[in-house]
Amino acid sequence: MSENGNEKLKVGYIHLSGCTGDIMSFTENYDDLVDLLDAVDIVYGQTLVDRWDMPEMDIVLVEGSVCLEDKHSVKELREAREKADLLVAFGSCASTGGFTVYAKGGQQAQPQHASFVPLQYLVDVDLAIPGCPPGPEAIKKVILAAVNGDMEYLEPFMKFTEKKDACGCDLQKNIVNQSICIGCGTCAAACPTRAMLMKDGRPSYNCDRCVKCGLCYYQCTRSWWSIDQIKKEMGLQ
Ligand code: SF4
Ligand code: SF4
Repeated sequence: MSENGNEKLKVGYIHLSGCTGDIMSFTENYDDLVDLLDAVDIVYGQTLVDRWDMPEMDIVLVEGSVCLEDKHSVKELREAREKADLLVAFGSCASTGGFTVYAKGGQQAQPQHASFVPLQYLVDVDLAIPGCPPGPEAIKKVILAAVNGDMEYLEPFMKFTEKKDACGCDLQKNIVNQSICIGCGTCAAACPTRAMLMKDGRPSYNCDRCVKCGLCYYQCTRSWWSIDQIKKEMGLQ
């Protein structure tokens, strides 16, 4: 129980296949989030808590994609889905597969591409925070919104779980080629691999560099409206 007598939020953390960049980004927030520690109980986490059995949890953050050949990871993810009220795909490997699925090679340790899938291929995911890694500010805002029950802020993160393929080519096909891009450059600014660059005021996409982290698609303000709705607003139909 916390000092004010309320039940503490039970939080778990699971690290599957990824580079640990997401939790590194999370730690950038320690100064801001330290006050929240009194409101949560970290009840499960490989390096955080000394217990092997998985308890019931209010929220579990899962970093990394899941390797289908790793029976322990598959079992742990499925068990987390059963035991947690809210399962969050934390970072692009968990949300889209990211570089564990789409890297063209050269990274160490080089993944076996066919083996990895994002979490929603195996279990229902409630919320996804894309990013390679997600920015500390974005992580902080999602956590505060979750604690405060700000569903309006969380809605795009919930909707992102429906986007299994939210990559640079989807942005090109669904936004740029549909003439609803306003040339703001947000997609290029968000891209961690410089696969998306602005050329002559338009996004220019290099598929060979894309690790399908989903950030460009997620950050594009035009991607959250239906094409029909935007075209109507623009007087194009
Ligand atoms: S173009 Fe860049 S931001 Fe978009 S999905 Fe590919 S790597 Fe991510
Ligand atoms: S973020 Fe969207 S609207 Fe902005 S330049 Fe990229 S595709 Fe166009």
